[in-house]
Order: sequence, then structure tokens, then C-alpha cells
Amino acid sequence: MRAGRYVYDPMSSNDDEGRGRHFVWTALAVVTLFYTCASVAVAESPRRANYTIEAKYDRSAQVITGRETIHWTNDGGAAAPELEFHLYWNAFANSRSSFVRATGTDWVKAIEEHPDAWGYSKIDALAVDGEDRISYLEFLHPDDDNVDDRTVAKVRLGKPVEPGASVDISVAFTAKLPRVTARAGYAGSFTFAGQWFPKLGVFENGSWNCHQYHLTTEFFADFGVYDVTLTLPSSDVVGATGVLREEHDNGDGTQSLRFVAEDVHDFAWTADSRFHLVEKTIEGTHVRLLIQPNHAAQAERLLTALGHAMRLYREWIAAYPYPELTIVDPGYGGTAAGGMEYPTLITVATTWWMPRGLRIPEIVTVHEFGHQYWYGLVATNEFEEAWLDEGVNSFLEGQIMDASYGHGSYVDLFGLKLGSIAVERGQYLRSPTHDPIDRPAWQFLDRQSYGAISYSKTALTLRTLAGQVSDEAVRRGLALYFERWRFKHPRGGDLLQALADTVGQDLQWLFDQLIPDTGTVDYAITRLKADEDRGFAGYPFKQHGVGEMVPLSTPPDRRYRSEIIVERLGTVRLPVDVQVVFDDGTQINERWDGQESWKRFEYTGPQRVEWAVVDPERKIPIDVNLINNSRMRSSGTRGIVRVTSRWAFWFQNLLHLLSGL
Ligand SMILES: [Zn+2]
Repeated sequence: MRAGRYVYDPMSSNDDEGRGRHFVWTALAVVTLFYTCASVAVAESPRRANYTIEAKYDRSAQVITGRETIHWTNDGGAAAPELEFHLYWNAFANSRSSFVRATGTDWVKAIEEHPDAWGYSKIDALAVDGEDRISYLEFLHPDDDNVDDRTVAKVRLGKPVEPGASVDISVAFTAKLPRVTARAGYAGSFTFAGQWFPKLGVFENGSWNCHQYHLTTEFFADFGVYDVTLTLPSSDVVGATGVLREEHDNGDGTQSLRFVAEDVHDFAWTADSRFHLVEKTIEGTHVRLLIQPNHAAQAERLLTALGHAMRLYREWIAAYPYPELTIVDPGYGGTAAGGMEYPTLITVATTWWMPRGLRIPEIVTVHEFGHQYWYGLVATNEFEEAWLDEGVNSFLEGQIMDASYGHGSYVDLFGLKLGSIAVERGQYLRSPTHDPIDRPAWQFLDRQSYGAISYSKTALTLRTLAGQVSDEAVRRGLALYFERWRFKHPRGGDLLQALADTVGQDLQWLFDQLIPDTGTVDYAITRLKADEDRGFAGYPFKQHGVGEMVPLSTPPDRRYRSEIIVERLGTVRLPVDVQVVFDDGTQINERWDGQESWKRFEYTGPQRVEWAVVDPERKIPIDVNLINNSRMRSSGTRGIVRVTSRWAFWFQNLLHLLSGL
């Protein structure tokens, strides 16, 4: 996701309807078929959770009714006595969900404008290997003490699923779409269905990892094959995860579309009668852009940005492996569904008036495409370690934007040029110290801190590492991480290991300071002066006594004692470069290990220090205050050298600030 969004409440929380109903689940037709026809390619992912779904969308009621069969294999290292599901849309069910509570007045405003903005997820029937288990359904709230949150459900099994064994789970469900206020829902003719079906958590290390739906958290799931048949109005233009395999006009004003997606861990779809379809082959991938008609002029911008991203990802990380990619431009009122990622489907955001120099459509496209790698293919736990998708992705987003659009890659408007570092710094500095990078997403102070840290501090940490090694080395480290962990669930340590293995050095000293800690980097030149050395004056000692007093004089060859103090004002200790420039134009480059609180540099000679800069090459963009990075001596004689030197100082200063506003 690129920006914050959210929403609200559901069915009455004492609803026992599903639980008490005696449901006989008979029609388990589909599972085996699914294997025979869905997949011809060699399975690349473990395919532990495979979904066959048939769903009907009643547009007028904004309700999806569906049946799913999940063929699930227990690869969690222990017997599973129960199953856990996400029922994500219960986050929008009522004012008591953890999600709505966290939105505060935002949700209230949404409801005031659209009274039927609520939505829900309901399991109507559930059977495991043919055995009805609906009466064993109960709700959990593993992350907080909110008993009213119903976004996670548990079902106790008749007998545990042994390690390596598989079961077929059949579920009938009803999903009421919320009004789009966060990621999914309806708005006018536009519908976006993400997290719309009951979905298994991940069973790993002998227990379920199945978190509630929170304001800032995203998702985590196992890979599999999705075979999804949707029935919806014939007038809808539809986009979905995967590839369209069959379409059928039902002759009653509806159409049925069957999509198959292999080696993915989620399935989203969208429908809008107003979508304008633009198709293009980019890097060998069939790209379908579903764009609003009034944004049609923006299609070229979106596809060009996608082309840059696909090419550079291929060069730097790996080629996009799926045959198709769908880009969705949300309809009017649906922008809160924009800027999101799903396997082989991303949502963007634009407006008809977007100036060329304001590259929001490009940024969002590059960012969401990047998530195909950092979320889609490398399936990290977005609930617990959001930095692994948002932060890594933001770093590469910046690299791609800067490489593709040059100086002023993010903003190039009315003479103002901002690149990726300036933008990341701007976001980071809004909340640099509230939370560590590796905190679970729902435990951040607020959305601002979550954005500042998960996205920007992580990106700036990788930039700072690049300053110690090189951009290229960090990108190679990410490529190695991708290669090792594609179709798996790595943790933070796995990323850091791949980076360390690539650069061939222990980076723990750097990561330990920046990832689990809220400390900041701030190096400053705090003093700079040059005193004239007037030579000897006073009573010289003799072997046995004192000589004649020598008066203070000014020797014909002036000499100076110059002094610079570099201070470490932040808690993070990094080696830093210091550039010292003298009034005769000479220059000395120093290096300080940055460990102590301060370091004095002294020089004597005929020249005076004129100015000094810590981190002159701006290798440490995570430094929270760049204004104190340089200092100039305040008084002195005039002269052409000095004037030139002063210009150089201001120019250097300006570059420093522009690169990291
Ligand atoms: Zn994102």
C-alpha cells in the first residue's frame, strides 16, 4: 500500500445465526477437478492453501454469496487440532471492531456521509472432509483485548490434521461489501473485492498465525492455486488476480467468469461498467489497464512508469514471472481502494488534472508493482514485519523513480524539484522516534509513525547502507534475498543475512542500531575557529633561570591554529567523513569512527580553516538534521580565495539541503 486508509461495524455482535443453524454441506464437487485442470506449469510455490471459489455478486444489495473449497496441507511442523480463518470484512461491521476504533473520527465521518458504509463477512456453513463443523466456530482476538472484534475465527476439528496431511475445507459464506473507505468495497458503479472470502491463516511452527484486521496492518497467507468463478452483471468490465480461463453469458443479464491464478496467496477482483480497457505487452507480460474514462489521458503515464519498473526489476532483482498483470484505476469515490497490491493485480490512483511534474500516478504504479516482489513473491508477514514489504519496496521505488525520471523524480513543479531521498526524509522526520522498525504494524503509535518508520526509515536505512557500500551492492543483496526466499515466508533476519552475505561484511552493528531501536543519527560540526599563532612571547626559561621577556609580536609569516569539533548528537554511531576547507582553497578529508560524543580536529599552518562539512557526499541520508552538518568560520579577511570558498560553501550547503529536505 502506498498511503493510509481505513474504516467500520457489522452485524449485531451477538449474532448466533450461523452457529446454531444445522447446516448440511453436501456439494463438495470441485476439489479434485481443480487439480486436474487448473495447473499445467510446474508448481513453483508450496501450494499449501488452494482455493476453489464460486461466488455470485448481487450488485444492488452489495452482497457476495459464495462457496469455497480449500485444499489445505499442513506443513506447520505439528498436528493442527483446529483451523483459523480471517473474516476481514468484519473489520467494517460495526463501531466496536478494532479497526473502526483505531480510525477514530474518520470512520464516523464516513458513516455520516454514507450510512450504509458497513460491511461484514459471515460463514454460513463449514465442513472439513465432509464433516459439518459450523457449531465449533468461535471468534478470537489474539492481538488485543477487544472481544467485539470478529475478524478472526477458529474451528475445532474432529481430529487433528497431522503434519504433511491434507484436508478439504468447504465453506459457504456471505460477504456484504462496505462502502470503499479502506481498500475494499463499492462506490457508485465501482466495486473492489479484496479480502472478501473466508481465508485461512498460516499454520507455522505448530501454531496458527492469524492476526486481526487493524488500521495499519496488511496480510499474510500461504501460497496456492486459486480457481475462482464469479457471476456478476454482464455490463461489468472485470479485472481479477490470475488469468481469465472461461467466460459465459448466462442470458439473464449476468456473466460468469472463471479466473485461475497459480502460485499466489490471495485473490482480488474488481468490476465497473465504466472501466476503459487498455491492453499492452510489457516485458513479455500481458498488461491490462482498467482505467476510468475521464482518466484515459493518464494511461500513457501509468504504462510508461510500469515499463520502467518492470525493466529495472528484471535487471536488478528478477523478471516478473506471471503471464498477466492487471492495473486498476478506482472509480469516483473509490480512491481509498487505490494504492494497493494483490497478486498480479494492483490499484493505482490519479486524477484528470494531475500535472506532469507531480508524479503521483508514476510513484503509485512503481510502488504497487514492487509489491509483486515484496509481498507477492516473497511472502513476508505484513502484520508482524511490515518493513520487509513496505520498506524494501520503498527503497526500490526510490531507486527506480530516480533512475527513470532524473533530478526531481517525485516532484518537478514550478522550479521545485524533489527526488526520492527528499520525500523519504520528509516522511521520516514527521515521526522519527516513536517506534522501532521491527514493531508489529498494529502496535505503532499511529498511522503517521507507521508510515514514517515502516516505509521511510527502512528505505533510509537501506540508503545509508548503500552509502557505506553502494546502491548496486544493496540491490544485489535484495536480489539474493529474493532468490533465496521466493515463494516462502522469510523473517527480518533473512533479509539482513542476504545483505551481509552480499557485501561480505558483518552489518549487525548497523542494523542493531537502526532496526530494533528508535535512536537517531545526527552528526554536526558544532565549532569551527582559526586562531592566529603569534609565536613565542613571555619569559623564556634558561637552564638555571629566566631570560629576557620577549614581547608579543606579529611574525612576518602568519600562522594559524585551526580547530573543528564534530559532535555526535544522535545515539546511533556511524563512521563519518569530514571535509575541511581552508582559506587558501586547500582541502583535507578526514574520517571519524563516530563512536565518542565528539571529535576534535586541529591543524596549524599558514592557512586558516574556512568551513567544514560532515558527510560531504551525503552518504547518510538518515541523518535527522542536515542543517548542522556544515559550519563556516564567521569572520576574517576578504580576498578572492575566501569569496570563492564561501560560494563553494553555500553551494555545498544548498546541495545538501536539496538532496534531503
Ligand atoms: Zn506499499
